[in-house]
Amino acid sequence: MRTLNNAVAVITGAGRGIGRAIAEELGQGGARVIVNYSRSKEAAEDLVKKLKEYGSRQAVAIQADVSDATQAARLIEETVQHFGRIDILVNNAGINLDRMMKKMTIADWNTVIQVDLNSVFYTVKAALPYFMEQKSGTIINISSFVGQMGNFGQANYSAAKSGIVGFTRTAALELARSHVTVNAICPGFIETEMYAIIPENVKEAILHRNPLGRVGPPQEVARAVRYLIVDGEYITGQTLNINGGIYM
Ligand code: NAD
Repeated sequence: MRTLNNAVAVITGAGRGIGRAIAEELGQGGARVIVNYSRSKEAAEDLVKKLKEYGSRQAVAIQADVSDATQAARLIEETVQHFGRIDILVNNAGINLDRMMKKMTIADWNTVIQVDLNSVFYTVKAALPYFMEQKSGTIINISSFVGQMGNFGQANYSAAKSGIVGFTRTAALELARSHVTVNAICPGFIETEMYAIIPENVKEAILHRNPLGRVGPPQEVARAVRYLIVDGEYITGQTLNINGGIYM
């Protein structure tokens, strides 16, 4: 069994939503947490304060727009400068710009691919030498059920999220000999700001479509992340669906 105690965990886009819940879960388990944020400094610092109150030995907020390769690399470098190592990388940062393809612009497409998919390669590429040298580590990439089943108005988002799954499998193969596990989580509808902006009538339809008849709290995804880290030593290259049964 691996331990969270003292492990150094980088969580991208951790100021709110699923990323925040993951940071809290890992921090409560004793990890030293890097709270990455792009713009909302206040939310990130508030989380760092909360993590310290929980007794997490150390937590630090680091600003970096992970869709920029240089900033993503700086996030990893600053982590290692600060804590001397990196044990856990959770690629959670994500956005969506939904439009039917007829109206989707090239910029809408490129922006979502850049933030949701390219960022994952950027952080992994930067963290790779440290993981390989340590011969240990775990990477968890937050994909989506939309990457598995597609969704109206989400061509860019579904392509990025599918891409994450393919990338995860290849990274798992390449890193296995370094004892690094790489997995993806595909959440279904989770109650965060990303979900909050969905119109009420669509939300009703979502609940109707979902076999478990509810939307998941971000903590349920966070607990799966913890499971993969602590008990998932023999799990790599996999996709864990936490989706209430909306995609089976
Ligand atoms: P959210 O919008 O509440 O949070 C996303 C976070 O990512 C924010 O803190 C945002 O500032 C950060 N972020 C965005 N671009 C960034 C960048 N370039 N650099 C650094 N940080 C950046 O959304 P959420 O629901 O918490 O989503 C978290 C992840 O889960 C995303 O990858 C999302 O695609 C995925 N997801 C969410 C749902 C859902 O229903 N909420 C379902 C499936 C997958």
